[in-house]
Amino acid sequence: MNPLMYFSLCCLLYTVILSGVYFTKEKIESEENKIFSKILIVNVILVLLEIVSSVINNNLIVKMIVKKFFLSAMLLWGILFIFYNLLLVKGKNIHFIKKVIFILYGFVVFAIFVFPIHFNMNEEGITLNTYGLSQTIFTTFFMLCGLVILFIILFNFKKITIKKSLPSLSFIFIMILTGIIQIMNPQLLFITMAITISTSLIYHTIENPDVKMLEQVSLAKEAAEKANHAKSDFLSNMSHEIRTPLNAIVGFSELLKDEEIPETAQEKVNDIIMASNNLLEIVNGILDISKIEANKLEIINKEYEIYALLDEVTALTNARIGEKGLEFRVIIDQAIPKILYGDSVRLKQILINILTNAVKYTKEGFVEFRVSTVVKDNVCRLIMSIEDSGIGIKEESLDKLFSKFERLNVEKQLTIEGTGLGLAITKKLVDLMNGKIIVQSVYGKGSKFTVSIDQRIIPVEESTLELKPVAQTTVVDAKGARILLVDDNEMNIKVASILLKKYHFNIEAVTSGLECLSKIKNGEEYDIIFLDDMMPKMSGRETLLKLKEISTFKTPVVALTANAITGMKQEYLACGFDDYLSKPIEKLELERVIKKYLSRLDSQNVKGNHASKINSILDSKINVENVMPLEDKTIDFSGKRVLLVDDNEVHTKIATSFLKKYNLSIASAKNGSQAIEKVIYNDYDLIFLDEIMPGMDAVKTLDNLKTIEGFATPVVLMGASSEAELQGKVLKCGFSDYLGKPIDRKRLEQVLVDTLQR
Ligand code: ADP
Repeated sequence: MNPLMYFSLCCLLYTVILSGVYFTKEKIESEENKIFSKILIVNVILVLLEIVSSVINNNLIVKMIVKKFFLSAMLLWGILFIFYNLLLVKGKNIHFIKKVIFILYGFVVFAIFVFPIHFNMNEEGITLNTYGLSQTIFTTFFMLCGLVILFIILFNFKKITIKKSLPSLSFIFIMILTGIIQIMNPQLLFITMAITISTSLIYHTIENPDVKMLEQVSLAKEAAEKANHAKSDFLSNMSHEIRTPLNAIVGFSELLKDEEIPETAQEKVNDIIMASNNLLEIVNGILDISKIEANKLEIINKEYEIYALLDEVTALTNARIGEKGLEFRVIIDQAIPKILYGDSVRLKQILINILTNAVKYTKEGFVEFRVSTVVKDNVCRLIMSIEDSGIGIKEESLDKLFSKFERLNVEKQLTIEGTGLGLAITKKLVDLMNGKIIVQSVYGKGSKFTVSIDQRIIPVEESTLELKPVAQTTVVDAKGARILLVDDNEMNIKVASILLKKYHFNIEAVTSGLECLSKIKNGEEYDIIFLDDMMPKMSGRETLLKLKEISTFKTPVVALTANAITGMKQEYLACGFDDYLSKPIEKLELERVIKKYLSRLDSQNVKGNHASKINSILDSKINVENVMPLEDKTIDFSGKRVLLVDDNEVHTKIATSFLKKYNLSIASAKNGSQAIEKVIYNDYDLIFLDEIMPGMDAVKTLDNLKTIEGFATPVVLMGASSEAELQGKVLKCGFSDYLGKPIDRKRLEQVLVDTLQR
């Protein structure tokens, strides 16, 4: 037997095993796999034919035919190998080339079968080699196949990875080696072995991920997604659950504060409230981050007033700075368009997070808040930078800054509370808003965070916003201050009185200049006089001149007139009026005047007997955080009816205790349907709806309430979700306002003032 036969038998065994493994395995349906299966089958046939051809020695014709099949099969293998390489570089689109090559292959096979082949045998009848035109045609085309493969690899070297080109390169290498060996010893023909090695290399380099493995991966992915959902649901439930007892803790502590308890107990109550509020912040942070991770956090874009937002953020930071003695510099570019379109709630959250950190991590020096803008077409890029002279961040820690639960400079900030969630949330929010955040810091010297976010500009005239200037959110309380209204028109007096009543003035009104003069001459003292100009007999200007003749007269006099043409203000001021208000009186202008003259009064001699109180109110810029101390307020809402809707009795109890002091008449309902029933049969001035109730939640209840004919009562959403989330629901679902749980009494009062005093 030809010794080469042993190699052929080994090749046959190997290819059969390989085919067994390959064809029994689950594979993905890829083009690569399709070509490879053909290559493998042809390889098995090829080895079989080689063995058969070497075994048949007595029948030369059969041997010749088998040999010709063998050559055709080998050429077919070569062609399939070309296709495989073409697929790697060109992808699926090789149909045309395939067709051309197959036609060519048909001609060559035809030639191989038509032309003769001869065997060179030794005395024992063993074939040493073959020759003849048929063999020459085969050799030429097979070498051509090798060349084509070489060119494909060389010209597409960058496209094919080394791993993928390995079968082809080794095929060419073994071919050259086989050629050299055959020239030296024509008996030794290793071509079938070379082919088998290349086939085996394709098998090992082909992308053939196990289908089962793919299934497992996709199952694992599904399970991970489910777990993530479960985690965020759990966290959101937990947050709600934690808030429920927190509400009771904070609520009852607040109530305890109002009672006569020893000072030491007061301190402890304050500590309880502070600790609960810290816990609340942590719960909010966890809730936000889990929402972001579960892709549940929505960006809700709406029109908003940027200056009001910046003002609120600044005021909050001022409150945070408190007694710390830091210099807070606020530099806001006045070129920022008034109304922008974006998610103001999240923007506020971003700024508050960074500003809070700046205050938290700065012991002395300054915090600078700078907002500038670049306007292009209808887009405004807000560039907001917050710089501090605080502890700074080490350079190597900068890349960990935005990772969740990561707190840096641990040695320096042992006493500073925090969870390491703030900046992770900030970064995600900035990303969600397609913005950018940059941090610069020098360890020990300070840090600078710069955020840039693009917002669409809404021209003021196109805006649907009822322009609510910043001052409107402030609560001006002028209790005790005396006002004299001078107007000949009773109706005007009525309107002005209604407007002024809100600020708790003691209002007196007269219908002529003469009456006004006589009041002053009789020694009556007022904090401000609003004087109408166009009055019969004695005009406002004439009255003012007479008033000024009284030596002791120093009261600010504000001209009140329907004459609102431009230049009038200057004219009135020139006449000696202290200020000017045009009719109909604009609330904002009125508040400006009140603030201006009441604060000035304080430094002088104040007429009203509550002067010091007025000063304390006006001193502080009043906002959500900064309303005057509750103890001092006795806002009376008697006659107003409030409906509290909450399934939790403890919450209702706390809220009722808080609301009682305002003399409101309070009704309660345990669920949405009870609330709807009550609203159908009674009139309410304000409704508080708990966010989550069994059966019908706040949103559904509101939707149902809206279907009641003539329903226009303000509805406030009351819930344990994070502030940003509640704000989001207010915007989306049409609530009038929101009130977080645990209920903050200052916030509750603000809600009452905003909704009931409207
Ligand atoms: P927290 O303040 O709750 O720890 P943050 O995510 O807000 O978490 O901040 C992460 C960390 O980044 C902080 O622990 C602090 O080490 C560092 N850091 C943030 N802001 C500043 C700053 N302005 N100055 C110095 N370090 C800061």
